[in-house]
Amino acid sequence: MRVDVVTIFPGYLQPLSLSLLGRARADGLLDLRVHDLREHTHDRHRTVDDTPYGGGAGMLMRPEPWGEALDAVLADPPPGAHPQGPVLLVPSPAGEVFRQAGAVELAAEPWLVFACGRYEGIDARVVQHYADRVRVREVSLGDYVLNGGEVAVLVVVEAVARLLPGVVGNAASIEEESHAAAHDGLLEAPAYTKPPTWRGLDVPAVLSSGHHGLVARWRRDEALRRTARRRPDIVAGLDVAACDGADLRVL
Ligand code: SAM
Repeated sequence: MRVDVVTIFPGYLQPLSLSLLGRARADGLLDLRVHDLREHTHDRHRTVDDTPYGGGAGMLMRPEPWGEALDAVLADPPPGAHPQGPVLLVPSPAGEVFRQAGAVELAAEPWLVFACGRYEGIDARVVQHYADRVRVREVSLGDYVLNGGEVAVLVVVEAVARLLPGVVGNAASIEEESHAAAHDGLLEAPAYTKPPTWRGLDVPAVLSSGHHGLVARWRRDEALRRTARRRPDIVAGLDVAACDGADLRVL
């Protein structure tokens, strides 16, 4: 997968060189390229912002450097790029909330491009213009406001890249996690390792029973209970047809 990130803070993306993603890059599974938006300015101060039309607090990012920077990225597609070009992801608190299902969709794409806003965001014509040329998605991490899109890139790239074959050592672990479609999007059950007793707290006996059926049922029940308690919105969206009688007794 190719990922291009345009930002005024290239250094913010350095964590993407660490750990599993760093190894994925070294192994050629992830080709991540970070571009400095200021390379596409033409004044002495390398200005990327200006005051908003209509007044209001703060500054907005001007469209011209964005146009130049994104045109340069789009002019250099990776081999095997989608005929419609990359998905252009524009982090924004006003975007669609990013979820695991979105990560799964993006993991099937050969090329993602991120445009990191700063200040009060990017002139709205940038999204308007590129929506006619590529598939654009404005994505939000959640209902709060960050200072810039870089943290959203760290989150989205990590969530997507770990789904690429070979990035996470044990492929099964991805299917057993919270929000996985294979488990109906439920939260994962609590998990334990050794020792069997720690500070007076015991590991649930069923987990040491060696009975795979009972362990699976316990995990499913705990996942259902935990999800119902913490995320009733997920339980409300469950497909009742996918639940068996034992599930329905827990719910
Ligand atoms: N004026 C914008 C608004 O009220 O919608 C907020 C701009 S915010 C201070 C600056 C940048 O941070 C945004 O352009 C976006 O890139 C990023 N950002 C802030 N909150 C975000 C969130 N919840 N999810 C994704 N990106 C976010």
